[in-house]
Amino acid sequence: MTKQDWIDDDLKYIWHPFTQMKQYEGEDKPICIVKGEGIYIEDIDGNHYIDSVSSWWVNSLGHANPRLAKALYEQAQTIEHVIFAGFTHKPAISLAKNLVTMLNCSLKHVFYSDNGSTATEVALKMAFQYWQLKGKTKKQKFIAFDNAYHGDTIGAVSVGGIDMYHKVYSPLLFEIIREKSPYCYRCPCGKEKETCQLECLDDLEKILEKQHDEIAGLIIEPLIQAAGGMIMYKAEYLTRLRALCDKYQVLFIDDEVAMGFYRTGKLYAYQHAGIEPDILCSAKALTAGYLPLSVTICTDEIYQAFYDDDKDGLKTFYHGHSYTANPLACAVANENLKILAELDMEKYLAPKIIAFQKGLEKFREHKNVGDIRQWGMVSAIEIVEDKESKKSFSYEEQIGKKIYQAGLKRGALLRPMWNCMYFMPPYIITEQEIEKLLTIAYDSMCEVLGN
Ligand SMILES: *Cc1c(COP(=O)(O)O)cnc(C)c1O
Repeated sequence: MTKQDWIDDDLKYIWHPFTQMKQYEGEDKPICIVKGEGIYIEDIDGNHYIDSVSSWWVNSLGHANPRLAKALYEQAQTIEHVIFAGFTHKPAISLAKNLVTMLNCSLKHVFYSDNGSTATEVALKMAFQYWQLKGKTKKQKFIAFDNAYHGDTIGAVSVGGIDMYHKVYSPLLFEIIREKSPYCYRCPCGKEKETCQLECLDDLEKILEKQHDEIAGLIIEPLIQAAGGMIMYKAEYLTRLRALCDKYQVLFIDDEVAMGFYRTGKLYAYQHAGIEPDILCSAKALTAGYLPLSVTICTDEIYQAFYDDDKDGLKTFYHGHSYTANPLACAVANENLKILAELDMEKYLAPKIIAFQKGLEKFREHKNVGDIRQWGMVSAIEIVEDKESKKSFSYEEQIGKKIYQAGLKRGALLRPMWNCMYFMPPYIITEQEIEKLLTIAYDSMCEVLGN
């Protein structure tokens, strides 16, 4: 098959995610990937690209990791998949036990599913049914945030807050209580990050005070609203939010699908805030980006509300997926956890986090760099048309896309998030490679926007 055959058949038979197929067919041209190794992916022409987005935020230990490949192969030779109702298997048991042990907090029971969207759907349904079972049947609503992203299934879209993705489906969605996004660079309350008193939570407190009898839970992406544009906020925000949830008996659902597994420098982002959620959703890097798998982990308090002789069958959690707790995925996840433990992640990541912090400095003076933000191994540069007014470039100008194309020529995958250029590479990236990546990013930005 020649490259042109690949492209012809791809365009003829496939509809890609988040892709305007007409544009993709035109100037964008699909990039045909044949191989991955470490932080690099290689195309059919032998070009190498730094996978600086971890292949959509999933890959954490690089591509084609021999240990993960071996774990997968060995598991495939024993039991590849089995029904998970009435049956169980060792990879799922070990993984659940490992996760609960690592968390070492009040999150005790692991519910498996197979991607991030299902993990959040499970959390919402669990929280909803919990209050029904507790007899507080009026507690039916959820609080969610502007710019939030929790997945692409209808329940997850209901709590999403990105108009471009979500608005068209609004007649299909359940009603939620929407709160301001903690977007410090563009503070909804007009405050400065350094001096604010989290005024953005004042409205939320008023709503809770008035309506907590009707509110089942709150769902939030901890520290970083990723798909909304790598919007970052302070850990104290989560601390205060947790306190409000406690005060008003609202379940705190922590969507760590993207940030879990050390993206922010700690195992889970909530740990920066000294809090514990009631329900935790985790997926993406759970298998180091090898196979789709997710977990929704809840407290014993929630679990016990469902635990019953259940003569009428009404206290059961009726939810499951064909591939629930797939043994191949669980086996890879177990190996992933082993590798992470051996690396001693917080120590392992510290110099890399600093390398990003230092390397990002040179962007600051550029006329179109509005904001530079970082939490651990995630960093982002918000590009603006005008620094003073923080005015963004319009969608039509496609600045992000132009930088992306300039980046590809130089050997890095800089897929933008709105007008944000961001870096979220596999953790195995070295300090030299971070420097190289940031140089490519800087040069690509200057090619499009000038110096
Ligand atoms: C990616 C993401 C999801 C959805 O996960 P999928 O596996 O793509 O369905 C949910 N929540 C957050 C915060 C995400 O970043």
